[in-house]
Amino acid sequence: MAHTHTKRESSGLLLLIAGLLPLVLGLLFTFFEAQQNVKRQQVAAADALLTQTETVTQNAWDMINQLKQYTDDKCVNPMRKIQQLGSLSAYFRAVGTFSGPNVTCSSAFGRNPGTLSQMVLGKMPAHPYDWMYSIGGTYGVPHRPAVLFMHQLPSSKGVYVVVEGQYLMDFMRAIGAQRGYQLTLRVNGGYTIQTGHVEPDDNLLFSGSTYRAESQRFPISVSVTSSKAEALKNWRQAFFIFLPLAIILSLLCMLLAVNWLKHRLSWRDELRKGIRNGEFLVHYQPVWQVEERRCAGVEALLRWQRHDGRQVRPDMFIAAAEAEGMIIPLTRHLLNIIADEAQTWSVAPGFHLGVNVAAEHIQHPDFLADIRQFAARLREKQMIITLELTERSLIHEGPEVANKLATLRREGIRVAIDDFGTGHCSLSYLQNFQLDYLKIDRGFINAIESLEGETPVLDAIISLSHKLALEVLGEGVETPLQFEYLKNHGVNYIQGYLYARPLNSAALMAWLTKKGSLPPGTPD
Ligand code: C2E
Ligand code: CA
Ligand code: CA
Repeated sequence: MAHTHTKRESSGLLLLIAGLLPLVLGLLFTFFEAQQNVKRQQVAAADALLTQTETVTQNAWDMINQLKQYTDDKCVNPMRKIQQLGSLSAYFRAVGTFSGPNVTCSSAFGRNPGTLSQMVLGKMPAHPYDWMYSIGGTYGVPHRPAVLFMHQLPSSKGVYVVVEGQYLMDFMRAIGAQRGYQLTLRVNGGYTIQTGHVEPDDNLLFSGSTYRAESQRFPISVSVTSSKAEALKNWRQAFFIFLPLAIILSLLCMLLAVNWLKHRLSWRDELRKGIRNGEFLVHYQPVWQVEERRCAGVEALLRWQRHDGRQVRPDMFIAAAEAEGMIIPLTRHLLNIIADEAQTWSVAPGFHLGVNVAAEHIQHPDFLADIRQFAARLREKQMIITLELTERSLIHEGPEVANKLATLRREGIRVAIDDFGTGHCSLSYLQNFQLDYLKIDRGFINAIESLEGETPVLDAIISLSHKLALEVLGEGVETPLQFEYLKNHGVNYIQGYLYARPLNSAALMAWLTKKGSLPPGTPD
């Protein structure tokens, strides 16, 4: 009852996770996507502003080039030309010539224009021959920024161009208005020309951000600051684009989960049906006893032959039966089949019969009764029943399991540890449990490469079993070399394709008469 209850709870949890996971991941994705989007838009805005400013700058330098020829003239001659050039482009506030600190000729103020410092409303910084910088205003237009371009000759005469800041600001407003950006433009570390305003904020999820960029061609730097509202707007957009997809995805995941759960349930039903319809068979794999030079007995291995002819691999259906709480009924079924089939056998007393037992079964209150009933049905045959347990069955179990096994051993049942070496690292259970055999996993046998070669782990396992006075069996022996090696190292039993494959009951009886006493590897 409790079992079904937790099962139902874990199914619900699985469904919940399947449904929520895409939504949560999607939500995270939208945050990321929105951030990337804001960044992309900022980069585009910064690029546009830089490109435009570069074009204006290039035009200003071109203008300077044209003006250069007038530096030596008296202002009278070039005046017309200067005024003409100055009014050619809408974005020049003024153009002119200078000599030392004085403006000698100006498109705005004619022949009496004052000093350069007066014009830029401040001290002129020391500068090289060609230079440019942004300023807060000029004499004629004191409250509107501008960009000043100057070309000075070694004679300290030169020409200048003042680019109208309003022009740049209009452009900045045009690209910043839609997304509410705050844009700045600064030339050569001069005055910062700015449009728009963004409140600073420290919201954790959504916050404004600033992107800065610099021109590769001129000393121009720009920045684009976006607001929290912009971040939120972008996230909302990403969210509504993604939401339908996330819903579909989460429905799909839930569908998969439901399918999987159904499939899981169907394993249980299929196993039940398989038992009812007699789809399970038992094969018996002979074991060679080295010292006595004869077949010592067999290990019973379960087979599932579906009604449609398909075979299900034992490791698959055993694992499914264990996961679905079906291993105990399945093992009882197995014991029944064995007991039925063994009635027809003619074997010498002391013939070994190995049966694999799952951990869950050993803990079950009916375990002793199940095994005793099985043993009772075989009593007449005087076989030695060996329970094969994996390390996993023993390692977590306390005295209760140890007591059960001790009781069964007193009644003549033997205990083998199966797949030794593949389970847990702790060997303490070897002292806590009374065991009879140790079955070395196929993996270690495979490591044997030559008779003289070293297989340290295998050798250690063999000598450990000798020290513990356990009889030792080598599993999955496929080659004469492996057989020879194990024999030389004092392994007592050999099981594997070299000696015999698992056979059904009738085939086993025929095989025993014909080959039971021929050593492993004897040709047919
Ligand atoms: P296992 O108990 O270690 O059984 C030995 C496995 O090795 C068997 O595979 C056997 O057919 C195979 N084998 C034997 N000799 C050789 C060999 O020379 N070479 C190779 N490559 N393989 C060899 P099988 O029958 O497929 O069983 C797989 C596992 O399924 C078993 O491993 C056991 O853990 C489990 N199993 C099988 N029958 C039962 C059962 O009735 N009850 C339980 N609880 N588990 C079972
Ligand atoms: Ca086994
Ligand atoms: Ca094994």
